[in-house]
Amino acid sequence: MYKDLAEHFVRSFFMHMEPIQIAGVFDTRTSAKGYCARCDTVHSTVVGYGAKYAGELFRRLEKEKRIDFSVPESDADPRLATETLYGEARGQMFGVLVCRDADGQYGLLKAFSGQYNGIWNVEGWVPPLIDVSRLAAMSSGVERFIKRLGAMIEALPAGSPERKALIDKRKSVSQALMKDIHMLYSIPSFGGRDLPLSEVVVGEGGIPTGMGDCCAPKLLGHAARHSLKPLGLAEFYVGRENRSKSRMHGGMYSACSEKCQRILGHMLCGTSET
Ligand SMILES: [Zn+2]
Ligand SMILES: [Zn+2]
Repeated sequence: MYKDLAEHFVRSFFMHMEPIQIAGVFDTRTSAKGYCARCDTVHSTVVGYGAKYAGELFRRLEKEKRIDFSVPESDADPRLATETLYGEARGQMFGVLVCRDADGQYGLLKAFSGQYNGIWNVEGWVPPLIDVSRLAAMSSGVERFIKRLGAMIEALPAGSPERKALIDKRKSVSQALMKDIHMLYSIPSFGGRDLPLSEVVVGEGGIPTGMGDCCAPKLLGHAARHSLKPLGLAEFYVGRENRSKSRMHGGMYSACSEKCQRILGHMLCGTSET
């Protein structure tokens, strides 16, 4: 009994993994995929057992109207309420990953895309791939400097050479910051290769903001780092539809092509060996 309790605590607290009994239909549709340069092939993962648990999480979010399930309602953080998803800020993607650990225990991982209302870490949800404390340390000073440049730019007459020079300066400072932020992303794979974002990204163009922050990379990365075998990934959208209407409340979506697919080939490399 004590052992079970201790295990339960470790799983649910440190691993953010909620113990579950596997149930439902194994859905063989692809939920995430990407080209792996190392193997010169596309690796993918399926919805598997994920749909049922995605549905349960969706209903729980609708019912409880907040994401901090680990605290009683009286202690709920207003910033973690779902109300914000229905307003100007619009909705957000959520995801679940059913997995099995080395002992054969099944569990559920949960993720929200990016930050939730400016917050990276919420108990019960997998953490981001980026080291948040290093991100804060790196960006706060630079962001203050960028703001100061902005104020100086505003004070200068439009079209003046000084103004133009400062605008260029601001651009180069923020580009340098973006590069530094990308350096903080270490992208794991199921084959045990943890590599910098810039080394794993495939496809055309630069690294877009938020690459690695969607639910699929968060969930799969957390599973890979904790030797959990993925048995089903499902992502869904909650809240007011996005501007292009490509994401609607309650809709289920596979991992995005713009950000996720360009790194998921690396992340999913070695899934069958785990
Ligand atoms: Zn994505
Ligand atoms: Zn591969």
